[in-house]
Amino acid sequence: MTRPVTARVPAKVNVQLAVGGLRPDGFHDLANVFLAVGLHDEVTATPADSLRLTVEGADAGQVPLDRTNLAARAASALAERHGIAPDVHLHIAKDIPVAGGMAGGSADAAGALLACDALWGTKATRAELLEICADLGSDIPFSLVGGVALGRGRGELLTPLETGGTFHWVFAVADGGLSTPAVYRECDRLREASGAGASAADVPEPEPSEALLDALRTGDATALAAAVSNDLQPAALSLRPALADTLRAGADAGALASLVSGSGPTCAFLAKDTEAAQAVAGALTASGTCRTVRITSGPVPGARLVGA
Ligand code: ATP
Repeated sequence: MTRPVTARVPAKVNVQLAVGGLRPDGFHDLANVFLAVGLHDEVTATPADSLRLTVEGADAGQVPLDRTNLAARAASALAERHGIAPDVHLHIAKDIPVAGGMAGGSADAAGALLACDALWGTKATRAELLEICADLGSDIPFSLVGGVALGRGRGELLTPLETGGTFHWVFAVADGGLSTPAVYRECDRLREASGAGASAADVPEPEPSEALLDALRTGDATALAAAVSNDLQPAALSLRPALADTLRAGADAGALASLVSGSGPTCAFLAKDTEAAQAVAGALTASGTCRTVRITSGPVPGARLVGA
């Protein structure tokens, strides 16, 4: 194929992020319930003489343009498996906050994989694509799959979950990002400091919440709000204490639940319906506690080719 191919990929929020103890390999076992939401990046692959990257969007300046970019790494991994050169121009139209705890880089990796597979005619199987995703990063398989899913292991072993409805979300995007590894390190440090210990022997095995899975199945936003949890939230708040003001502003405006999204610093607010979401968004904007406010809903599908 010589015409450009575009893939559209959603962001995620973790409705449950239960973090186990630090494993000897430096990772943590997780019970990670991902929900894909309607903020999207688009990755366009065009034939080129060599691997080249361009990025547009408000956060474009924070995205690396070299081979460390997850989209470039994904294209290279696919090309290597198929014994071809990764000659492609990848253009990322970025709408997902960078380093915001919403899996923006993961979305770009999944999008680059799908788009390059179509452009190069490599015809990778779904299993092969998922394997490449898992090799590149724990959150990337979910960007491909979308919807709602439980991630075990370090988050990459996915089981799709049923949902009975659409949930309304407001996201408060912070100024500047948080490094995911730094937030995990802070989580371990806080656990050590509390005296409970941070190793896999000290921390209970993370398990998905039955109440949360039920709420997702029935589409009950109030029940979901009562069950959401994020073990990384204390660490994100410790590194960025001002996030407490953002969470409070959303809660005061009537959000059913207020939580840090993944490793943060984006904060997520669950609302009863579209009108309630607009009220929460208005209050968050007026509070001056965040850079931008986004209203959306989910679950939405995972990475898809545009026009396919
Ligand atoms: P997660 O929620 O999966 O922990 P995140 O949303 O917090 O991730 P990303 O937006 O994926 O964070 O960015 C994390 C870091 O990854 C960035 O600071 C950037 O240096 C690097 N990065 C590599 N590729 C990309 C990409 N395509 N888009 C954004 N950041 C990227």
